[in-house]
Amino acid sequence: MAGKLLSRTCPICNTPRLVGGMLKWTNGGTIDLFMGYDLRMVVINPEVFSHIFSSVESMIGMPVDRIIYEAQKNVTKLLFDKTPAYVTGFGLLKRLSFGRRFTVKLFNLLALYTGLCMSETRGYKSGEYGVAYVKNPFNPGLLAANVVGAFEFLEEKPYEYTWKHQESDEFLIEVSASDRDDEISDRFQVELRPIIPGSPVHGSCPKCGVPEYVSRRLRWDLAEGLISEVAAGSRMVFFPSHMLSTAFRELARELGEEIYDLLIDSQSDWTAENLNHLGGPGDNGKKFPEEEKTAVYDNFIKCLPAYGYGNPVSFKRGETVELVVENPYDLYMLGGMLKGVYEGLEKRGCTVGWTKRSDDVVAYELKQA
Ligand SMILES: [Zn+2]
Repeated sequence: MAGKLLSRTCPICNTPRLVGGMLKWTNGGTIDLFMGYDLRMVVINPEVFSHIFSSVESMIGMPVDRIIYEAQKNVTKLLFDKTPAYVTGFGLLKRLSFGRRFTVKLFNLLALYTGLCMSETRGYKSGEYGVAYVKNPFNPGLLAANVVGAFEFLEEKPYEYTWKHQESDEFLIEVSASDRDDEISDRFQVELRPIIPGSPVHGSCPKCGVPEYVSRRLRWDLAEGLISEVAAGSRMVFFPSHMLSTAFRELARELGEEIYDLLIDSQSDWTAENLNHLGGPGDNGKKFPEEEKTAVYDNFIKCLPAYGYGNPVSFKRGETVELVVENPYDLYMLGGMLKGVYEGLEKRGCTVGWTKRSDDVVAYELKQA
């Protein structure tokens, strides 16, 4: 029975077997989706997205959902493009009826194991429409972009969607072919960069390759389509790291580079208020004893490669805080996270600056404001 096969767990670390099959932790501090392809994934709390989008919207006074939607859609198309079954030799797959059905099934499977939602196809007619039942979408707008992106990849023409609400966390999403002009979408090309290899910095399961940091902290609920970080009691998803950089590149083109200051500040505020994710007591207001600070910084450094944020090669805490990271997943998000850890622990403001030692190596420095 397929269901049983899919719910098998690793006998050593107890993570679902398909997690280690679909995701590969590299020694460069990154997570690849499917072996050998460079589409990066990061583990992230989906609340971060709504927090960032709403703070950016309130600062610039205009909605950003269309920009985010287009970026997310293009990342999804790329994700399928990079899937081994579609690369050389299997190019015809998506043109054949069984190949299309395979793609729809693959989408549901990916969404389930990356914690985006639990989804089932309820109807699909190639070139015309698709209907899916969706439970626990991690973010309805972003998930719709995932679904539409998958259809546009498959059918090679524009699609649009409507949500139909069923129960509190259950929905039907209907997608149908659209005669919309796809010119806007073409601006959101995703830039991929090669990863510089490092050395493994965390213990990984000898059987499935999942880092201990991940198998200890994350729990998969495959019936619900949820991944939770047990200690913090919050939801997490594996998410293509290029979405935010693509969306913010476009925002910067339209609104200026200052948009990145907003990104840093909103990521920093969220991190400072949610230090429980890094083992902090989550109690704002009181000063932390030194050993608690050390433990939180320690956790932060360990989470970088485990969650695909990059490879920390040096870290120093003194008058200033200095962190050198190879393959940072996003210069600004990571800078904002580091700033948030400092401000949450020290209860005072700081500025974050950085030097790019090369395209893939960044040295951050925090200074008390
Ligand atoms: Zn394992």
